[in-house]
Order: sequence, then C-alpha cells, then structure tokens
Amino acid sequence: MIKINTNHIGDLPLPVNGTEESAILELPEDSGLTVNGKICYNLLATMTGMDLLVTGTARLDVIAECGVCLEQFPMELAVKDVCHLYENAEGQEINITEDIREDLLLALPLVLKCSPDCKGICAGCGVNLNTEKCSCGKKKKKAKSEPEKPDEPSPWDALSALKF
Ligand SMILES: [Zn+2]
Ligand SMILES: [Zn+2]
Repeated sequence: MIKINTNHIGDLPLPVNGTEESAILELPEDSGLTVNGKICYNLLATMTGMDLLVTGTARLDVIAECGVCLEQFPMELAVKDVCHLYENAEGQEINITEDIREDLLLALPLVLKCSPDCKGICAGCGVNLNTEKCSCGKKKKKAKSEPEKPDEPSPWDALSALKF
C-alpha cells in the first residue's frame, strides 16, 4: 500500500518514491495484459493548509496482447500527471493506493495495438501480416485475372468484317 503520513511533511514538499506490487491493480483476466515487474512511483506530497496535495508520476511495465494481430508486445503504462487532493488530511496517514491504481488503469489505451500501423492477421490464411507475406492473397489475384483473356473473339469482329 502507498501511504503518506502528513506528520512527516514540513514546509517543503515531501518526496514519496518507491515501488508497489502490481497485484494492487487487480487486472481482470481478459484485460489482455500481463504485468511485468512493479509499479514505480515518484510523488511529491505537499500540505496546502489542512489538505494534502499529491503530485508526480507512476509507471509500470506490462506485456500486452495486440488487439489486431494478437501478438504479445511490451508496453509501458505511464501516468505523467498524478494529482490528488485529500481534504482535511492534517495529522493523518493517507492511503493513496486506490487513486494510483485508478490513474494507471485510466492510462490504458482503449485498443491495445503493437504499433500504430499494425497490419493484423490475414482473414484468409491467418498469417501475421507484420512478419509474413500472405500467400492466399496472391492466389486470389491470380484467380481473378485468369478469366480476363484479351483475345476472345468479339461479335463486333464479324460486323467490322462485313463492312468491307
Ligand atoms: Zn499487432
Ligand atoms: Zn492470406
């Protein structure tokens, strides 16, 4: 748990740095994420009157599954603008774990993608188009061009022949 004892904060902001077990994230099994290491946080705790202001950053390495090609890829979950205010916190120990957890979960993109231009998987043959060339696409092209035989006799040929 990430706790801040406001009794330890003087006139200057108190640096609160450390790591936290990533289990606090309680990621659902279908999130497509595998947690890789611990949560790192670099926070500053400041008293503003009776209130505690917590600012800073938090980050975590994860392995994500691309929603387009289904490959696993490393990704950083980073919160660059942690900012929480706890009112009437003077003289108390404040548990900020839940807020940091929410910050990290909100940093998750809606669509997990291994790269912005991920080509995905071929619907025909199932190859990962980022790493392999699709073979079924080639076949389709061939099949399409085959019926277009340019030397088919046209009825107009006979007509033009009659003209002379
Ligand atoms: Zn991908
Ligand atoms: Zn294919």
